[in-house]
Amino acid sequence: MDSLSMWEATAGERKSRPTLQGEQHCDIVIIGGGFSGLSTSYHLQKMGYRTIVLEKNTVGYGASGRNGGELLTGYHGTMESFAQKKGFETAKKMWELSLDSIDLVENITKENGISCDLVRKGDIRPAYKVSHLEKFKRDQEYLAEKFNFHEISIIDRSEMKTELNTDFYHGARINERGAHFHPLKFVLGLADVVEGLGGSIFENSEAVKVKRDSADKVTVTTPNGRVIADEVVIVTNAYAGNLDNTLKKSVIPVESIMIATEPLTEELIQELIPKNRAVSDSKNLLYYFRRTGDNRMAFGGSGRALGKRAQRKLFDNLREGMTTVFPQLKDARVEYRWGGKVGFTQDFLPYIGQLEDGTYFAFGYCGKGAAMAVMAGKVLAETIHHPDQVNNPLKKESLRPIPFHSQHAKGVGLMKFYMAFQDKYGK
Ligand SMILES: Cc1cc2nc3c(=O)[nH]c(=O)nc-3n(C[C@H](O)[C@H](O)[C@H](O)COP(=O)(O)OP(=O)(O)OC[C@H]3O[C@@H](n4cnc5c(N)ncnc54)[C@H](O)[C@@H]3O)c2cc1C
Repeated sequence: MDSLSMWEATAGERKSRPTLQGEQHCDIVIIGGGFSGLSTSYHLQKMGYRTIVLEKNTVGYGASGRNGGELLTGYHGTMESFAQKKGFETAKKMWELSLDSIDLVENITKENGISCDLVRKGDIRPAYKVSHLEKFKRDQEYLAEKFNFHEISIIDRSEMKTELNTDFYHGARINERGAHFHPLKFVLGLADVVEGLGGSIFENSEAVKVKRDSADKVTVTTPNGRVIADEVVIVTNAYAGNLDNTLKKSVIPVESIMIATEPLTEELIQELIPKNRAVSDSKNLLYYFRRTGDNRMAFGGSGRALGKRAQRKLFDNLREGMTTVFPQLKDARVEYRWGGKVGFTQDFLPYIGQLEDGTYFAFGYCGKGAAMAVMAGKVLAETIHHPDQVNNPLKKESLRPIPFHSQHAKGVGLMKFYMAFQDKYGK
């Protein structure tokens, strides 16, 4: 869905960047100009490497310029479940990495003076069902007991109005570490910083071929040029095309859509989300929403529709969802509607690693990539710099394409149908 996003409309004037022409040389060539790619470049430049970022469209074209801008901790699933699957130590490192990822975004923003409306007032996960609240409590106890993390609180229905002025939910989990920002302002700001550090970024420069030669160099070809480098990083996430078959077939793109209202009065927006936290609820087909820097309600949900009519219906349904949560918004005009692709993996965990031929990758943040993709860029840079010393609990060894990957759209459709059924009738 390529309609103008509210982020694009409110990011200010965009600097246009050149298309790659002819031959260029660098240490590391990075394919993909989103959070992952720009953060990799930023950290490598600071370590003294010369980098080139190739972006098929424009910086932030993918999910990084379209997302809800919610900087959240954790992963899909409880840390207790990851401790069971991956071992306690790995799970603890995963948790710490997710906490650090939000600090990282905040630090990059502050150190480089990136103006991106960052608000760090925590995040809230409202409970769609009573049973979800019970799960939150178990999770809170686990994190306090095992990880010594005490910044989560749980509120019941009677206290909800202090957080969200709605009767839609049964209570909520609050995590003081969460934040939200203007994602496109951040990504454009980071691109400027990368260039300030001496890195190059080429837009409208699709990498169409990656070839390694015997001299341990890699050549990345674009329609009008090529880059010769020591290493290549591919961070195209859910926007992966045919460049690398394994990467393309390891990520499952799932569409998510957003709407944004006109700017609301200070009184109204304050009444709806008084503490200005980032919100993402516990429905299987979740709603996520937050205030924006200019007092709009930005509201997201799941959705994929082919054809204009179906798309209109999808956005109408999302608006209906928004006014069901907040009937106070029934007269608010929706000014922007847009969507993008979220990258999922088979086990709902982000993957950071290297293909057999040495190509570095990171993807599959499963809807929680606004902070984690920035962290993944740092982890990739550290892996390139000091492979033996890196802390990477998300390391993915031997990536294999998902069987029957071409059927993923049908699979996602069925999964969503099942999830909607669970939301309606499940416990
Ligand atoms: C609607 C929506 C809402 C979301 N909300 C949130 C949220 O609130 N919080 C959160 O944590 N996460 C959220 N996410 C997820 C988050 O946006 C992503 O995890 C994150 O942006 C991934 O960043 P990335 O750099 O890895 O990928 P992307 O930002 O998708 O970047 C990949 C880039 O690669 C480029 N590319 C592809 N192929 C080539 C090629 N061959 N050559 C050159 N360039 C190429 C694409 O054009 C694209 O710009 C949301 C996602 C969507 C779509």
